[in-house]
Parts: sequence; structure tokens; C-alpha cells
Amino acid sequence: MPRPINARIDRSALLHNYLLAKSRVPGSRAWAVVKANAYGHGLLNAADALAEAADGFALLDLAEAVALREAGIRQPILLLEGFFTAEDLELVAEHRLSVVVHRLDQLQLLRQVGLPLRVPVYVKFNTGMNRLGFRPEQLAALRDELAKNQAVSEVTLMSHFAEADGERGIDWQLQRFRAMAGEWRGPVSLANSAAILRYPQTGRDWVRPGIMLYGGSPFADASAESLGLRPAMTLTSEIIAVQTVAAGERVGYGGLFAAERETRVGVVACGYADGYPRHAPTGTPVLVGGRRTRTLGRVSMDMLMVDLSDLREAGVGTPVTLWGEGLAADEVAAAAGTISYELFCALAKRVPVTVV
Ligand SMILES: *Cc1c(COP(=O)(O)O)cnc(C)c1O
Repeated sequence: MPRPINARIDRSALLHNYLLAKSRVPGSRAWAVVKANAYGHGLLNAADALAEAADGFALLDLAEAVALREAGIRQPILLLEGFFTAEDLELVAEHRLSVVVHRLDQLQLLRQVGLPLRVPVYVKFNTGMNRLGFRPEQLAALRDELAKNQAVSEVTLMSHFAEADGERGIDWQLQRFRAMAGEWRGPVSLANSAAILRYPQTGRDWVRPGIMLYGGSPFADASAESLGLRPAMTLTSEIIAVQTVAAGERVGYGGLFAAERETRVGVVACGYADGYPRHAPTGTPVLVGGRRTRTLGRVSMDMLMVDLSDLREAGVGTPVTLWGEGLAADEVAAAAGTISYELFCALAKRVPVTVV
């Protein structure tokens, strides 16, 4: 028998969340951002859930883009980091992909390889994220290159917000974007999940929702539920052993938790090798038999311990929810000092997945 751990992927939640994103920015089209194996949810699970609804799919990995085409996806597919070599461009043409370009030499390569068809290009502006994109002093060279580049079909201008979820917001980046775009009348793509939800006026032609598709909140101060999002991944397991420890006894590696009173400790078949964060401290929320309790001590590779002191009815075989339906991944992530993005992406290959 396999270990009782399981990740349930809810396609109807993915679809609900995608449609919610669209409803926030009426008139915009939305790239479903499915990079990193659809934030750990399984690329093809997400593609399947959104095959009818999605205007397009955005990701980073060429092999993932090809996998989407092979799965029958016909919508536009956008490579968010662009391409790296001339060989990549052959696949870009073969599979009719759209590409982000963030360096001049990418455009030069595109011009020089002589593709049989023209490629839709997203020109990325660096407006303050300082990760990818052209800076204002490169605009003249960019304009010259685009003017003579026969390999480019439609151009879309894009940028990425660094603090759409924070206090500094987006105005400062929008100002820089407007200054760089000048008289541009063509299509624009700016908004990630946080901007779609908090600054829907940045929707424009195309938006790029990621985390919200999976039911994660992009904000530290607003729950996914309050935003109308539904969890797409529920990670469950079971209690596989119970220990009653006396006051003063310690639990787990390093003895990080010391019992102040006699404590019933449940052992859950889920550890950091499954993707549960090892740095989740004592007190991280967990559901046992549908009731909320806390983790105890350090997370091990294959197991973690939970407090059953107030859950008399819980014992071996009682179901446990690590995150998802009934317990927001954002809450678990916050307790562990991270964000739900990281929890989802870290889901380990060894965890069996059920798609509903
Ligand atoms: C990952 C990514 C997104 C999606 O961001 P979320 O915060 O998950 O909504 C959008 N645009 C780009 C360029 C990205 O890399």
C-alpha cells in the first residue's frame, strides 16, 4: 500500500479562479501563467482545466511549451523568459510560440536565423523590477532594431510590477512605463495577480494571472477566500502513529518542542521530502479530522508531528489536511516564513496526485 499522502488537484477551482481573474478586468485577455509545472499543480492538469477557457498560456520552459502543443493546446503560448539559442527559435516557429524579448541580441538573433514565419514578440521594459527588460537608454537602439526586423509580427509592450502587493504600489512603475512607451498605441500587458486584484485599471490588453489561478492570495493582508478564490491543491495525509508523552519530554529532531503537560502527539505521513517546508515551526496550523491544531517540533524528511491533546477522537488513520480545502496554503506559508507560491512549487514528485 502506498503511504497515505495525496495531493488533490481541483480543476473546477482552477477554472473558477481563471474566470474570476477575467471578471476583474473586463475586456482584457488573460495569459494563464502555468510556469514551473503550473506552480506545482501539473502542467497538463492546468491545461486540461483551462483548455476551453484560457485565452493563452504563459510559461518559461520550451519543453513545457512543446508539451502543451502536444497535448492539443491551440491557443497562443508565451515564453516569459524568451529564448536562449537559435535552436530554440526553430521550435518557437514550429510550435507557433510567442516570445518575450528583454535583450537586443535576442531580437538580432531572431532577425538573423531566417525563420519561415514571423513571431509575435512581447518587448519587456524594465520599469523598476530590475530583473529583465530594456531600460530607457536602450529605446533608440530597440526602435532601430524593430524597424528593420522582418521576423517580428505583432509587438506587445510589457512590464512587470515589483510591489503590486505592497505599500509602494504601482504608480511609480506606471509612470516610467508611460514615459518609455511614449505614443505607443499597440497592445500592452502589465498586470500579474496582485495588480489584477488591486489595480484592475492596469488590465489593458492582456493580463498575466499566476498565483490566483491556484487559489493563493498575492497579499499578506487579504485571504484567498476573501478574494473569492478557491484552493486548487489540497495536500492530505493521515495520522500513522500516536505517542503520549509526559511533561518535560521533547519531540522530534533537536528536541525543539518540549511538552509542558502530558501531550498526545500524532505522527503524520508528510515531511520535507514531500514538499512540506522544513522551516515550519511548532504552531504551524494543520487540520486533523477537519479540526484545527498545530504542528509540534521540527519537520522530518518523511513525517511531522501534530498536537492531538484537544482532539480525543483523533488516532491512527484520522485524515490530515496540510493545506488546501479548509486550511489556506497562505496561512501555512506565513507560519513558515514563506509564500504559498513556494509551497505549491515544492510539492515533491513522490506525492501521488489525484485530479478531480
Ligand atoms: C510569474 C509571472 C507572472 C504571474 O505572477 P503571479 O504573482 O503569480 O500572478 C506574471 N508575469 C510574469 C512575467 C511572471 O514571471
